[in-house]
Amino acid sequence: MRAILLALIVGSLVACTQSPTGRSQVLLFSENDMQRLGEQSFAQIKEQENISNDRELNRYVQCITDSLVAELSGTSQWEVVLFNSDQANAFALPGGKVGVYTGLLKIADTQDQLAAVIGHEIAHVLARHSNERVSRTQLTNIGLSAADAALGQSGVRQPAMAALGLGVQVGYLLPYGREQEAEADRLGLQLMAQAGFDPQQAVTLWRDMAAAEAGNQPPELLSTHPSHGTRIQGLSALVPDANNLYMQARAQGRRPACGR
Ligand SMILES: [Zn+2]
Repeated sequence: MRAILLALIVGSLVACTQSPTGRSQVLLFSENDMQRLGEQSFAQIKEQENISNDRELNRYVQCITDSLVAELSGTSQWEVVLFNSDQANAFALPGGKVGVYTGLLKIADTQDQLAAVIGHEIAHVLARHSNERVSRTQLTNIGLSAADAALGQSGVRQPAMAALGLGVQVGYLLPYGREQEAEADRLGLQLMAQAGFDPQQAVTLWRDMAAAEAGNQPPELLSTHPSHGTRIQGLSALVPDANNLYMQARAQGRRPACGR
């Protein structure tokens, strides 16, 4: 029953597309919907969190973000905000919004390592992972509420398409899936290398993250970006190709010097 309903809904509503690495994705929402969600969430987060006005640190984070974004096709504007917090965390939302917490700078303590994290976050946005997550959750809800209605139950589940409220802060609070993590690792590594950041530093960064997780202050980043045993292996395997991009970028004069 639920399967049939889901199939009907999927058939009528869903845009089946491919991610940048060729994985098929079920996306229920338009780019505009997701952009609006991202912007709303970001505005909300900026109200709740303490924004850093440390000029030097802001310049540093902006410089790294600008270097990465310069490698993206398209003309969309990206905004990065640095938040004062001991959290070792960062996120990116649809609509080109990036948040970095000062606590992250203690683990990602070189420009190349911070570029690895921001590149990874941007990659989640480029690959429309938020849309995928909200879509999955909505599909489950639609399936359940339709099944409830058919069974004569009501009011238990959220109404179908219960606004996008669910999506507020998505990409911020919900963990990404294993496939999404692997995809963001791969795309993020390419992006940082193209921008002239050393891709080997991504491996170092995630190793340091894993080490910090084993300590008494697990990085918050890992709660939304679960690290799998295979992450370091997967990344290491991608470094040689990324290194070629890195060498090309350096030869072409892309040598970010964001310093600190
Ligand atoms: Zn991630």
